[in-house]
Order: sequence, then structure tokens, then C-alpha cells
Amino acid sequence: EFAEISLKDIDQIVKSSFPLCMRHLFEKLREDHHLKHGGRMQLGLFLKGVGLKLGGCTCILESRVLEKENISLSPLYLYRHTHHSILSLVGAERFDKEYSYSIRHNYGREGKRTDYTPYSCQKIISSTPGVGDHHGCPYRHFSEENLRAALGKMGVNSRATEDVMDKVRNRHYQLACTLTFEALHESSCDAGINHPNQYFTDSQKMLQ
Ligand code: SF4
Repeated sequence: EFAEISLKDIDQIVKSSFPLCMRHLFEKLREDHHLKHGGRMQLGLFLKGVGLKLGGCTCILESRVLEKENISLSPLYLYRHTHHSILSLVGAERFDKEYSYSIRHNYGREGKRTDYTPYSCQKIISSTPGVGDHHGCPYRHFSEENLRAALGKMGVNSRATEDVMDKVRNRHYQLACTLTFEALHESSCDAGINHPNQYFTDSQKMLQ
């Protein structure tokens, strides 16, 4: 679980393989150093899925960080290479008290033993983010202006952007996300996007 992480540069991975919903949350977390509950859950569980896939601990620990609103991501970010470096950063006692329980909790081993499964697109799209919330699906919840700006920042060209906006107007949010994926990977995604972790996995497969 705490094996040496294989990620050289998580920023690069966020940029290349995170769907817009998670990229947005990740950027907000780095900007504000905290997320409200809905965002912590959506991003944290996604990262949990990513961490398991990549066999690294970074994402698991970062998902833990999301729950500690008063802890900035940046110092932990720098100490992401091994479990031990995190320990040396926060101290063993504090790690046990503040971190271990919640990691186990998120993994369903303590508390109610609930298995917290990463959210599907459907669940995210049907969520209702309030003021100050950053969770949800940008295709569904962003204004047209903000969505256009976000797509531009991701590197989606203007022609593809119009196709995406067309899907959004028809309320086909997952198709809009699929078109974004296809534009950024210059490749088709026949199955369509139905889960943020699927977006991530398919992207990583294509990039390898
Ligand atoms: Fe995220 Fe799914 Fe929306 Fe894409 S369609 S941004 S993966 S919730």
C-alpha cells in the first residue's frame, strides 16, 4: 500500500489524464488549500482509485490531505515520494492520530466499514453544488463562459470546443466529456466516458 510511488510528476498527470471535473477540483485545492465536503469526497475518492491503479501512496495520502482543510497541500506535495518522508514531515504520532484513521476509514476498514467507491459521472452530474462548492461536472454546472475558458486552458481547439458546446446545449454531458477526451488524445473513445476513473485509465493507456 505504501510502496515507492511511480509518479515522477503528478502535475503532468493531472494535465494529461484527469477529466475536467477532477482537474478543476485539483486546481482549486492548490489555490485555496482546502475544499468543501462535496469536493473532498469527489476528488479524494477519485484519487483513491488512481492511487490504487498506479500502486503508489501519493494519491492515497493526498486524499487524506483533502480532509484536513487546514493543512496545505504544498509541503506534503514536496514530500510525496515515500510513506516515510510523510512520516518525517508530520511526525509519527500525528500521522497515526490524524492520518491513519482516515486513510483506513476511506478504505472502508474502520468506522461503518463502508466501501467508499469513486463517484460515477452520473452521480457527479446529478449532484447539486452550492455557492463556494467546486464539485460537480463542469459540463453540467459551469456557465458557458467558464466552460469555454476551461476547455481553452486544457488545449481543446475551437472547432472541437464548438462540438462540445453543442453536446452541452443538448444536455449530453458525458458525450461532451468524451469529445474533449478525443480532442485531447487525438483518438476515438468508442465506449464513451461514464466514470472519471475510466477517463483516467483510458488516457493513461493511450499515453503509454
Ligand atoms: Fe467528470 Fe464525468 Fe463530467 Fe467528465 S462527464 S467532467 S468525467 S463527471
